[in-house]
Amino acid sequence: MTYVVTETCIDLKDKSCIEVCPVDCIHEVDEDRMVFIDPDECIDCGACVDPCPVDAIYAEEDVPAPQVPFTQINKIYFKDKVAAREQVDGIKPPA
Ligand code: SF4
Repeated sequence: MTYVVTETCIDLKDKSCIEVCPVDCIHEVDEDRMVFIDPDECIDCGACVDPCPVDAIYAEEDVPAPQVPFTQINKIYFKDKVAAREQVDGIKPPA
């Protein structure tokens, strides 16, 4: 299992989650519009959920139906960043 960052992170990137993650598996770079959780590194501790001011993070099995594409987007990001960024832009076009 893993935790998943969803749509409300886009263009916000509060980053409180990054500060609390004990294994540093939440990745953020300037080029991205949101942060991403590496599903291979996440230890499912749940520490990142409450600090997020926009409730963007869910356990994989609890991701709301409209946000389910983000489960794949978080995974894809760690294999193909361009593809993940394109999918984010497709869900929420840049302003
Ligand atoms: Fe990091 Fe824990 Fe959140 Fe996984 S659930 S991203 S390990 S803080």
